[in-house]
Amino acid sequence: MTRNGNHRILLSEDRIPKAWYNIAADSPVAFPPVLHPGTGKPIGPDDLAPLFPMSLIAQEVSTEPWIEIPEPVREVYRLWRPTPLYRALRLEEALDTPAHIYYKYEGVSPPGSHKPNTAVAQAFFNKAEGVKRITTETGAGQWGSALSFGCNLFGIECKVYMVKISYLQKPYRRSMMNAWGATVVPSPSPETRAGRSILAQDPDSPGSLGIAISEAVEVAATHEDTKYSLGSVLNHVLLHQTIIGLEALEQMEIAGEYPDVVVGCVGGGSNFAGLAYPFLREKFINGRNTRFLAVEPAACPTLTRGPYAYDFGDTAKLTPLVKMYTLGHMFVPAGIHAGGLRYHGMAPSISAFYHAGYIEAVAYRQLQVFEAALQFASAEGIIVAPESAHAVRAVIDEALAAKEAGEKRVILFNLSGHGHFDMGAYDAYLSGALENYEHPQEKIEESLKHLPRVE
Ligand SMILES: *Cc1c(COP(=O)(O)O)cnc(C)c1O
Repeated sequence: MTRNGNHRILLSEDRIPKAWYNIAADSPVAFPPVLHPGTGKPIGPDDLAPLFPMSLIAQEVSTEPWIEIPEPVREVYRLWRPTPLYRALRLEEALDTPAHIYYKYEGVSPPGSHKPNTAVAQAFFNKAEGVKRITTETGAGQWGSALSFGCNLFGIECKVYMVKISYLQKPYRRSMMNAWGATVVPSPSPETRAGRSILAQDPDSPGSLGIAISEAVEVAATHEDTKYSLGSVLNHVLLHQTIIGLEALEQMEIAGEYPDVVVGCVGGGSNFAGLAYPFLREKFINGRNTRFLAVEPAACPTLTRGPYAYDFGDTAKLTPLVKMYTLGHMFVPAGIHAGGLRYHGMAPSISAFYHAGYIEAVAYRQLQVFEAALQFASAEGIIVAPESAHAVRAVIDEALAAKEAGEKRVILFNLSGHGHFDMGAYDAYLSGALENYEHPQEKIEESLKHLPRVE
């Protein structure tokens, strides 16, 4: 194979898309309504108004195909977008595969992941409606740091409830949030009713995303000048991330290829959807025959082992009921290192597409994931986030399957972030201290007993 120097495909600044793509406009499957937790009836925009600015609520329920990206948001995007698309020639060579592997690298943003694509947009829309402060939760700290970055740029206060185990394990993500001016509180905290009630039952609770969401939502719902922000799962978050796939469509065209399979890791589903939805549009509208593969950890197997059911987004049952694949809002995952993939639920649109068979899913255990991450680092140089390493694992397996079948398969994946703050996890793997963990069936069944009864 010859390397002719064009294995990094760049777009110029003026190619940053001018609109996000809204899959609701073209979806052949209907998305089930979001229900009010008290009445069980479909919610309206007013029910969400205490938590989100009206512009984001409008995006949440919109069926318009294209939603304009405001110029001040594009102006910030220019700091790191368009992001590069790489052809992983050295990895192909190492695997001796006829597959062509491409990756869209989102680790070039200042916080180091795809998350600022929505954080910057959310900060902008909140600022435009006069919001003074935003609360949120964070697991491993990537979302908290992305929102701190966005809020800092638009002059809004940011308060982050950080899952306690990560707060203790990842002090530098916390420092990063502080550097961008945010306040960070370990969750569960004594500051909120939700936090106090968890602490009363279990003073040593390691926390979970579900608990941290309860705290952040409670503070926003009880303060006039404060709104809440979520880094994944919701329609408007996935919408903002479609900038990834829109750029990638253009870059693949420059490469002269089209993906046979699109791969991404899934926590709440935003980076996967961000890359996949513009290509899924091509399938819906132009009949393109692409497979879509969502990759999750065996320690939090939402799509592969959860039911498709209405559930709360948080532990304290403050959020509306959403129909999604879920492990139950009481789910407390093991402390695996891919903190960003530990959420109990999944974006409702991804859930609907998976249910209808448009998306496939696979779950991997930690050791095989880190093995793939090191193989990737050795071939391509980039040390990927443990979350992204799940996608890398699946891509390597796809490439090996293509070799087995003797077929040229074009694989495109989202490299959602770098792993520079996760070297502790790499250390654990390299020293042999990292163990496989599969969530036990009894624990899943126990947690699912608490699913709300709907219908
Ligand atoms: C947060 C995060 C994820 C998981 O979140 P999604 O909403 O599923 O994308 C994946 N990769 C990285 C690097 C992250 O920071």
